Amino acid sequence: MLIVGLTGGIGSGKTTVSDRFAHCNVPIIDTDLLARELVEPGQPALAEITTAFGSDCLDEAGRLDRTRLRERVFADAEGRKRLEAILHPRIRILARQRIANLTSPYCLLVIPLLAETGMTDLIDRVLVVDAPEAEQLRRVMVRDRSGEEQARRILTAQASREQRLALANEVVENSGDFADLDRQVAALHQRYLALAHAR
Ligand code: ATP
Repeated sequence: MLIVGLTGGIGSGKTTVSDRFAHCNVPIIDTDLLARELVEPGQPALAEITTAFGSDCLDEAGRLDRTRLRERVFADAEGRKRLEAILHPRIRILARQRIANLTSPYCLLVIPLLAETGMTDLIDRVLVVDAPEAEQLRRVMVRDRSGEEQARRILTAQASREQRLALANEVVENSGDFADLDRQVAALHQRYLALAHAR
């Protein structure tokens, strides 16, 4: 099976684009969702995180307080590494298992932080969703009702547009309207079907 890695910065439109592929019956595996599954109560990764970061990263119900943990490791490179060492090997295993169960010509593996974490070995091609930074900020602020400062802080900590685009085999230019996205996704879908059949 052809595995297309989909990435893009915060608010670039990854979900908007992957939803359109899903409408074409393309299976979508999202590493963010896998990470959430892996930290459900009772999962070994949650126990390891609690050992490493203390029980104050749990909420009253014993679930991982992702916001608190994110805040905690945001400015702490060592802590981030520790967290990645707990989660990334497990995400890889789970992603491979899920992909092994699929029967479609190709699938999308959504890896938001592909440029930062280098999970490139899991995928055959890279599809980057690209948008101007001002547009990313505007969309995130509207969607999350968050302030510009918070959105900009996350954006600045991520890989740059150029770093992501350097990895791209294909690019979705998400600077237009939804109809424009529909056209781009339809063309990419045909391209990936052809590439999958040529393998
Ligand atoms: P995150 O990195 O935060 O997970 P994302 O990359 O998945 O975000 P989306 O959630 O798909 O981005 O898009 C961010 C917001 O911008 C959403 O509210 C979405 O509806 C809106 N949006 C995306 N693309 C467009 C577009 N072309 N025109 C108008 N709004 C858009």
